[in-house]
Formats: sequence, structure tokens, C-alpha cells
Amino acid sequence: MARYTGPVCRLCRREGVKLYLKGAKCYGPKCPLERRHYAPGQHGQARRRKMSDYGRQLREKQKVRRMYGVMERQFKNYYKKATRMKGVAGENLLQLLERRLDNVIYRLGIAVNRRDARQLVRHRHVTVNGRIVNIPSFIVREGDVIEVKARSKEFLRIQQALEVNSSQSRVPWLEFDEKELKGKVVALPQRSDIDPEINEQLIIELYSK
Ligand code: SF4
Repeated sequence: MARYTGPVCRLCRREGVKLYLKGAKCYGPKCPLERRHYAPGQHGQARRRKMSDYGRQLREKQKVRRMYGVMERQFKNYYKKATRMKGVAGENLLQLLERRLDNVIYRLGIAVNRRDARQLVRHRHVTVNGRIVNIPSFIVREGDVIEVKARSKEFLRIQQALEVNSSQSRVPWLEFDEKELKGKVVALPQRSDIDPEINEQLIIELYSK
């Protein structure tokens, strides 16, 4: 499947918010968004016109899609699934995105960003309940045990990620044993566990037109 391979900081500048696509750089003064708070490109600094409702909905959808690194078709499939689930569709959508295995690896601090997490999964470094899973979009369930494969535990990239993420707080719905590099889904993520800056209702409005 086609995937965006251009400069990722450009995506943050386009959305005007930090999407945390890099790793350590995102938390320091070298983040370009700290210095240039305007959209990239020739007209990036032009005064922005008031955005239409459609524009706001579209930008919110693009922001979240880029944050989780999901392509349009798959993102829309999450929306369809979310509307079929019990509860609030917007919250279900965010919960599905959070439960993706690549996101779980990122949240546990085993990778510096979701893109690296996806690669760790694809390259068969991760097990779920003792079995290798190489599908980044695999949806974890409550009680699942996620572990780095024994032979991959000393992998330099993983060790570096753990060091970078050591100062970041972990999410309450995941338990993590840093020595064993083993995590457990102790509960499903709640809305309060997910970025409060996201306005999921705008995404639902966009797709329900
Ligand atoms: Fe976004 Fe991180 Fe680049 Fe900052 S450093 S613009 S947060 S990807």
C-alpha cells in the first residue's frame, strides 16, 4: 500500500500541531514547529482565510490520520467499524486507532515513533500472547500480552527508544515490564486516555455526509 515517505515535519506544519512523528526531536527546541508556526510552501505565511466547516472537518481528519500513519481507505474502514460498534462513534474510532499494534508498541516506549513501531512489527520483532504478529494494524484486546521477541531484546534501536522514552509517562491502559520488554493491555483505552486536542466529532461529521 502506498505510504507517505516525504519529510514528516512538513505534515505537522501543515496541520499546525505537533504530530510527534520523529522521536526525541519532537520534544526539544529543534522541532521546526517551535520556530516556524506556519504552513509549509510558498503561501504558507499568507494570512489564512476563515475556514469553512468542511475545511475544519477535513483538516481534523487529516491530522488524526497522519498522527496514526493510516492511509485514507483504512481510516474510512475504521470509521465504518466504529459506527457499527456500541457507544459513541467518535470515541470508538479513536479507540480502534489506539488499539492498533503499532500504536501499542509506540505507547509502551519500545519505538520512538509509530513509523518505527510499524517497522518493528513488520520485521517480526513482536509477539502477542507468545505468537509472532507482523501486522501493524492488528487490534489488541484486553488481557493481550505484547512482548519483544527474546532475540530482539538487545536490538540497538529498541534500547535507544527506551532511553528516549524513559522520561515520558505511559498510558494507564497498558502495563509495562521494562526489564522483560513485556506489556499487557490491562483495560481498553478510554477517551480520557487519548489526546484531548482531537475533535473526533468533526471527523464523524465529515464521513457521515
Ligand atoms: Fe512534528 Fe516532531 Fe517534526 Fe516537530 S520534530 S514538526 S513534532 S515530527
